[in-house]
Amino acid sequence: MLQPILRLALPSPLRRLFDYLPPVGIAVSSLKPGMRLRVPFGRREIVGVLVEIVDHSDVPPAKLKPALEALDSQPPLPPELFKLCLWTAQYYQHSLGDTFSWALPVLLRQGEPAETRQERFWHAAKGARPEDPRLSRAPRQREALKTIAQHPHGVAHSLVSQLQLSKDSLDQLLQKGMLRTETRRSHDIKRHQGSWLLQPELPLNQEQRAAFEAINAGLDGFQTFLLAGVTGSGKTEVYLQLIHQVLEAGKQALVLIPEINLGPQTLARFEKRFNARIALLHSNVNDRERLDAWLAARDGEADIIIGTRSALFTPMKNPGLIILDEEHDASYKQQEGLRYHARDLAVVRARQENLPILLGSATPSLESLQNAHSGRYALLKLTQRAGGAQAPRFLRLDVKSRPLDSGISGPLQQAMAQTLAAGQQVLVFLNRRGFAPSLLCHDCGWISQCPRCDARMTLHQRHNELRCHHCGHAERPLHSCPDCNKLDLRPVGAGTERAEERLGTIFPDYPVLRIDRDSTARKGSMEQLLTTINRGEPCLLVGTQMLAKGHHFPRVTLVAILDADGGLFSADFRASERMAQLIVQVAGRAGRAEEPGKVIIQTHLADHPLLVQLTEQGYFAFADQALSERRAAGLPPFSHLALLRAEAQKPGQAEDFLDQACSQAEQLLEQLGISGVELLGPVPAPMERRAGRFRAQLLLQGNARAPLHKLMGVWIPLVEALPGSRTVRWSLDVDPIDL
Ligand code: ADP
Ligand code: ZN
Ligand code: ZN
Repeated sequence: MLQPILRLALPSPLRRLFDYLPPVGIAVSSLKPGMRLRVPFGRREIVGVLVEIVDHSDVPPAKLKPALEALDSQPPLPPELFKLCLWTAQYYQHSLGDTFSWALPVLLRQGEPAETRQERFWHAAKGARPEDPRLSRAPRQREALKTIAQHPHGVAHSLVSQLQLSKDSLDQLLQKGMLRTETRRSHDIKRHQGSWLLQPELPLNQEQRAAFEAINAGLDGFQTFLLAGVTGSGKTEVYLQLIHQVLEAGKQALVLIPEINLGPQTLARFEKRFNARIALLHSNVNDRERLDAWLAARDGEADIIIGTRSALFTPMKNPGLIILDEEHDASYKQQEGLRYHARDLAVVRARQENLPILLGSATPSLESLQNAHSGRYALLKLTQRAGGAQAPRFLRLDVKSRPLDSGISGPLQQAMAQTLAAGQQVLVFLNRRGFAPSLLCHDCGWISQCPRCDARMTLHQRHNELRCHHCGHAERPLHSCPDCNKLDLRPVGAGTERAEERLGTIFPDYPVLRIDRDSTARKGSMEQLLTTINRGEPCLLVGTQMLAKGHHFPRVTLVAILDADGGLFSADFRASERMAQLIVQVAGRAGRAEEPGKVIIQTHLADHPLLVQLTEQGYFAFADQALSERRAAGLPPFSHLALLRAEAQKPGQAEDFLDQACSQAEQLLEQLGISGVELLGPVPAPMERRAGRFRAQLLLQGNARAPLHKLMGVWIPLVEALPGSRTVRWSLDVDPIDL
């Protein structure tokens, strides 16, 4: 009889499966694709996923090793998700084993059981009171009882130390009969009874109603909707009312949101509205919570699943709807390892599982707009702000030949002064952290270059450091020039720290609050800043794109964009799209309440057609213009790209490797008779040296997806086999968003 062979996907970058014999004493008939097995790998033991069982291996029988144990009695990943992972690995030309690693919760990768764990919960016993005389001389027990009594569902034992409860006090209270314990599954709380709604739904305005009804009519099968609604137009209200319908139908909703601080805010809004079990899969939840949430979703014990990028891979027992908010946001694209785009994969998943999917944004990506134009997505627009707030007015302020004081022009200062005097708030947007983007010797022209990158180091005055924003290198700023020894070193340009300092001097009577990655690094600091802002007193907010995301600042009536020109000059063809989205999103923070908002954009290119379109006719006019430019230039979404990147210790190495890869690709194009794919490069990366390594890239451009993917399917395994592939670090980025 033939020996059955298990073919496993292992967490390795290699694009192949690995053969093993079944574990000793296990009936092969009990093994199914998707199950995890622990196997020996070199000197280690690792966890792999069974992909198929075959009766032949190319590995000589003597070299085949048995797997050590099967970890599951049922595949932890339902067939739909298994299929999505196969699709993902294939589309992104990525190792299947590594794809599983990105898709599965960490603890499952490590071999934890894929079942909701039983846990011990502490409850206050009936009638137990902290004032009980038996506790009069036991203050710690008294406090412990008080804390436990505040939790009607009990306190999970795993949270005991986090709540600063001592195990001893709990045991003593248990002995006194003042506490009881219960062992149950952690998600058994919050069972749904009665209405799904905790608060009434808002009556929808006409546009919202039209969007709601169109989507509601399409809830029973695959369709992609693009909800393009200006900031504050009530997109979220439409999401909530659709989710209500999904819940009523006994199904689950998956809500994807971008990274950065949005989790708690979104969660609060959902919790206020719904009597439902909500699972959160956010970057801040720990591994245990993540696994619990994942399992709850899989087993139908969570009704609403909210999460960032990777939550896309959460299995659902009764999926009813996928919503992806802020669909244009770049954080949906993973930039390391498996370089997937959660928006694109979410649409694939919806199609595979025959689900409706709703993409929402005030500033949809050009890709999605083009899909709407071509009829693949149903476009729904919300053009008015809900609740009566007015849209902000845009003003281009030409700063050519005007003196700038730390990046701030005279007319802008006057506008700020007026706003503050009227008791309102000003938001200053500058997408550059630190004090100044470089330090320059006024005498000889020396400039603060990073020793490891082709980039300048940013001066961070608050920490008295020069920092490279690309590799993290940091050093103390010098007092004299290292080249000429003169003492005339000057900061050039302005970042948020400098704008903050300067605005503090110009407007000494008003607080200046800086919001960027540096000022909000400490836990709780963002909340503190938001509380201050929400008090509503006149003040100035200075910040980076963190300010553009999701927050509501009802008292901000002036938004100042200090420098819009970078997005109009850049070599990256997506820069203008990104800049337009940022401007519109930042502008959307203004005047969300009674007072209308004003947006002033400082620019040296006041007549630039894209900027004029954007400010005079709005985002969609801009997008049309930008799309026709893309079409003329044959750029995405009118063509498809893949980028092969390489980096190496020595100059030239990466390019040599890519040269070989390029010749392979040229040969294959000819052999396979593929047309419509162009190879561009290899060329040095836009920043050739980064963190001490030399980088190069080879761009593939296909006039359609099919020929490009046909080539890659044959080519990438050959690239992997190139001798150089072990000395250079290389990666493939399919549909790259940064070039
Ligand atoms: P978006 O998600 O498009 O930014 P939101 O759903 O957050 O918009 O709505 C913006 C504000 O308008 C919120 O305060 C919301 O409560 C309010 N709102 C939304 N829809 C309505 C409506 N139909 N009637 C009254 N207020 C509404
Ligand atoms: Zn000098
Ligand atoms: Zn650097």
